[in-house]
Amino acid sequence: MVDKYDLSQSVTTLKGVGPKVAERLIKLGISEIQDLLFHLPLRYQDRTRLIPIAALKKQQEGLVEGTVKLSQIKFGRRRSLVCHIEDDTTTLVLRFFHFSNTQLQQLAQGVRVRCFGEVRTGPASLEMVHPEYQVIPADKIVPVEAELTPIYPTTEGLHQISFRKLITQALAFLANSGSLPELINDASRLHPVAKYSLVDALRYVHRPPPDVDVQALRDRQHPTQRRLAYEELLAQQISMRRIRANMQQHTAPILKSDKNHRQQLLEQLPFPLTGAQQRVVSEILVDISQAIPMQRLVQGDVGSGKTVVAALAVVEAVATGFQAVMMAPTELLAEQHYQTFTTWLAPLGIKVGWCAGKQTAAERREVLAALSEGEVQVAVGTHALFQDEVTFNNLGLVVIDEQHRFGVHQRLALRDKGRGSNSYPHQLVMTATPIPRTLSMTAYADLNVSVIDELPPGRSPVTTVVVPDTRRGDIVERVHLACQEKRQVYWVCTLIEESEHLQCQAAEDTATELQEALPDLSIALVHGRMKSAQKELVMQAFKSGEVDLLVATTVIEVGVDVPNASLMVIENAERLGLAQLHQLRGRVGRGSVQSHCVLMYHSPLSKNGQARLSCLRDTNDGFKIAQRDLELRGPGELLGTRQTGLPQFRVANLLEDTDLLAVMTQAADQFMIHTPEQSDALIHRWFGHKLDFGNV
Ligand code: ADP
Ligand code: MG
Repeated sequence: MVDKYDLSQSVTTLKGVGPKVAERLIKLGISEIQDLLFHLPLRYQDRTRLIPIAALKKQQEGLVEGTVKLSQIKFGRRRSLVCHIEDDTTTLVLRFFHFSNTQLQQLAQGVRVRCFGEVRTGPASLEMVHPEYQVIPADKIVPVEAELTPIYPTTEGLHQISFRKLITQALAFLANSGSLPELINDASRLHPVAKYSLVDALRYVHRPPPDVDVQALRDRQHPTQRRLAYEELLAQQISMRRIRANMQQHTAPILKSDKNHRQQLLEQLPFPLTGAQQRVVSEILVDISQAIPMQRLVQGDVGSGKTVVAALAVVEAVATGFQAVMMAPTELLAEQHYQTFTTWLAPLGIKVGWCAGKQTAAERREVLAALSEGEVQVAVGTHALFQDEVTFNNLGLVVIDEQHRFGVHQRLALRDKGRGSNSYPHQLVMTATPIPRTLSMTAYADLNVSVIDELPPGRSPVTTVVVPDTRRGDIVERVHLACQEKRQVYWVCTLIEESEHLQCQAAEDTATELQEALPDLSIALVHGRMKSAQKELVMQAFKSGEVDLLVATTVIEVGVDVPNASLMVIENAERLGLAQLHQLRGRVGRGSVQSHCVLMYHSPLSKNGQARLSCLRDTNDGFKIAQRDLELRGPGELLGTRQTGLPQFRVANLLEDTDLLAVMTQAADQFMIHTPEQSDALIHRWFGHKLDFGNV
C-alpha cells in the first residue's frame, strides 16, 4: 500500500513545486519531502513583539511602530525617501533608495506604520534602510505574529515566503506520517540532549512556539537544536567511518624492506631525527607494512621537519620495488621538494622525476614515459600529477603535502592512479595546520593522525612586531641594517585575492621602490606569474645568498626553506588569515640567529584584525594560533571546508558543540555495534545528496 504521506516522495508532490522550483530545490540538495524537514533555519526573526524605538539596538532586527512625523525626498549623492517616525520614546528614520510615488503618499504625515528591519546608525539618528513596513489603520487592532519567523538558506528565485509554505506542507506530511523513524539507538544516546524526540525537535525548530527562549534559539543553544546537532555530528562521524571502512576492504602492497636503505639516507643528513620525527616514522612504517591501505595524516608545525619523514617512507616504498609520488600545492614548493628529494635520493640510486603544469611538452613526454615504465621511481610535482595521462608502473605510496589545500576528492583521484583490481597505494598526507583535537577527529575521522610535536633543536622563536604602514620608512631602514649584517630578508606583498595579476603588479612596484630606496642591496622578485625556471633561478640565488632581499607575493607561503633569512616584512598583514600568516612567518626562524617578523598594517584596523595580529605577536605556537583562528573565523575557514569535504553543518557548530563532540566517537562505536544497518539511512538523511559515498 502506498503511504500518502510517505516522506520519501518527491517534492514535486507538493503544491507549488513545478519543474522550475524542483530544479532550484535540487540546488539546495532537496529532492524528497524529508529533505525539506532537514533543511533547517539559518536564523529567526522576531516579529512577535513591538519594541520601543529607544530600546532598539544597533545591528539588530526589530519590530517597531510609530507615527509618521515627516516624509521627504532628499537629493544627496543618491536620491532617497526619508521618513521620520516617532513613538512614545523617540524617533527613527526610515530610508528608501528605491521608492514609488505611491509609497511617498502612503507614508504621509500622521499615518501609523509598523516596520521590521535592521537598525543602524544614520547621520542624525538610528535608521532602518528599506524596512518591511505595513500601514496600520487607526481604528483597527492588527495582531503581531504569534511565532518567530524562521529564515531558511535559500537560492535565487526561491523566496523565503514560498520556502516557508513548502516547509508548512512538509510539516503536515510529517504530522500524518509514521515514516520518520528515530535512527539513534539507546546505547548511542550518550548526551542528555540526545534523549529528545527527533520529530518534536524538527517541529520545534521549524515552528518555534511563542514562549520559546529566543536567545537560546538564536545562539543555536536550544535543546531541540542541540538534539539535531547531536544527530548531525553522529551522521558525519558514521559517514567518515564508512569512507574508512570501504578503504580498508581494499588491499595495498606491503612496503617493508631491511633498514639499510633508510639508514643510508639518515647517514647523509646533517642532523639526527628528533624524537617526534622518529616516532612518526615508525608509525608510518608499521602502517605501510600492512596489506591494507594506510590513510595517515601527519600534523607538524611549520619547520617541524615533515619532508624528511616523507622521504623515509618514500625510500621504504622504493626499496620494496614500488613507486612513490609526492605532491605539493604550489609549483615553488614542489620544485623545492624535487630538489631536496633529488639530493637525498640520488646517492641511493633512486631516480626522481618532475611533473608540473609549466614544463615543455617534450620534457613532459619523457617523464611520463619513464614513470609509466617504472624507470623513474619517484615523481614529485603539483596537481598536474592528477591528469589522466599520468600513469605509473606500480605506485605504492602517495604523499600529499599541505593537505588542507587539496580536497578529499583530489586525494581520492591520486590514489586511484595506483589502483589495481582491488589494490590501492598507501596514502600519507601532511599538514602544517595544527588542528585542535576535537576538530581533527571530526574532519579527519577517515584518517589516522600522527603529530610531530617537537621542533628541531636550536631554533630561536621569531620575535614579531605589529606596526602601521605609516612607519614604512623605519622598516625599510631596518631591512637595510639586517642586510648589512649579512642577513637575508623577505618582503611579502599581499592583496585581496581578487586578482593574481594585481598582486604581482604590486610586488613588482614594491621591488622597484625598494631598489630605489636601497640601491646598494641586491633585490629580487618572485611571484606567481613568473615562469617556473625563472622562479627557480631567483630562489636559487636567494638560497645561495646572492640576493639580499626577496620581494614576494604569498607564493612563498608554504614550505620554502632558506635558513639564513632572518627578517620578514609582511605588508597589509591584516588581509591575511592567522594560519596563513603563521605559515609565512615560518619562513624565518629556521637558522640559529634571532629572527624577526614585522606585520605591517594599514589603518584603521578592525577589531578582528587587531585580535589576529596580536595573537601572532604573542605566540609562535601553531596550535594556539589554530585554536584562535578557529574562534575568530570558524572551522570552515581554518580547514578550507569546501576543499576538505567536511560538510557544512546545518545545526552543529564544531566550535561550540565540544561537549557533543566529546562523546561522538563512543556514540558512533555504539551505533555501529548495535545498528550498523541504520547507517545508510542516517547518512542519507543528513548528507545523502552532498557526498557521494558510493564512490569512495
Ligand atoms: P616542514 O615541516 O615545515 O615541512 P621541513 O621539512 O621543510 O619542515 O624542515 C625544515 C628545516 O628543518 C629544513 O631545513 C630541514 O632540513 C630541517 N630539519 C628537519 N629535521 C631536522 C632535524 N631533526 N634537526 C635539524 N634540522 C632539521
Ligand atoms: Mg613542508
